Amino acid sequence: MSLPRKEVDKKLSSLRESAGGEEEGKTLGEKVVKKVLIVGAGFMGSGIAQVSAQAEYQVHLMDIQTAITDRAIKEIRWSLEKLAAKGLLKEPWEKVLARISPEKDLSKAFEVDWIIEAATEAEELKRSLFRELDQISRPDTPLATNTSSIPITRLAQNTLRPERVLGLHFFGPVPLMGLVEVVKGEKTSAIVFERGVAFVQSLGKTPVRVERDIPGFVMNRIFSAALREAVDLVDQGIATAEDVDVGMRLGYGWNAGPFEIADNAGLDTCARVGQTMKALGAGHLAPSSNLIERMVSEGRLGRKAGKGFYRYSSEGKRVPWEKNENR
Ligand code: NAD
Repeated sequence: MSLPRKEVDKKLSSLRESAGGEEEGKTLGEKVVKKVLIVGAGFMGSGIAQVSAQAEYQVHLMDIQTAITDRAIKEIRWSLEKLAAKGLLKEPWEKVLARISPEKDLSKAFEVDWIIEAATEAEELKRSLFRELDQISRPDTPLATNTSSIPITRLAQNTLRPERVLGLHFFGPVPLMGLVEVVKGEKTSAIVFERGVAFVQSLGKTPVRVERDIPGFVMNRIFSAALREAVDLVDQGIATAEDVDVGMRLGYGWNAGPFEIADNAGLDTCARVGQTMKALGAGHLAPSSNLIERMVSEGRLGRKAGKGFYRYSSEGKRVPWEKNENR
């Protein structure tokens, strides 16, 4: 169970004392953490940047192309304007947006107090990012990953600070979803883990503690089991994706069905999660059919591509399929 914020601060201060004051003056409670670097400005990275700016952190948001960070800033602005119109921001949206600087490289890594990697779900890419971030950031900066499925320990292996590497697994769309799994790698120190919990709480999110590092952590193992069955049933023609989603919403009280969730997350990301599960001995949590891979190869990546299990307008609204359209 998650501890309340006060309890986390208490735990942190006793851990600091037992560590001989090594972490003096670095708690999140004291707001010494001011600057955050987010690596990857896609669906998740842009959302994490937005909620961090809303929590008054200075945010550097990096991606490999300026066009991607430009698009991210536009989307964050759209989201902030909507929140402001609903009275859900405590300050003008312009002020929040001004805290986010787009970056085209990792040169800000040394100045920041936290780093969150939210790049494409590919182990080799993440390993090489962790190797580089380890070399160019301050040695005491925690390195967090938003991976959906890759064990933290495998990414930490590429660093000289495995005790400072942890998982912060956000859920999308980040500004709307209240949950973040905080994942302990084999070598993550207790103090860094607690600081991860405190960081999540400082964003107004609820942490779920994952004490042991397994592929898919907790939530994606449970979701993958449901998605595996749903995909296999649809691929065998036993039910449609629409009917499965309606069934899970009305029958089990889910807010969204598995195919709606998969379309929002991106079918390319779902396929990569399935591949990781298979490669790391959790193949029972990946679909036995290759329906998702087939859809990805046809460019049906979900909402972001305008087509996945459902069809979407350019504003991202769900729309009916065209007559005779291949679905
Ligand atoms: P995305 O495809 O929307 O964004 C990934 C971004 O990473 C892209 O913009 C890409 O250009 C960028 N990138 C690639 N290589 C890079 C590099 N070397 N340096 C910096 N940026 C680089 O994917 P996403 O959905 O935002 O997923 C990002 C991470 O978050 C993945 O690990 C994914 O598994 C995880 N995640 C996704 C979801 C979801 O619902 N989509 C939920 C939780 C976690």
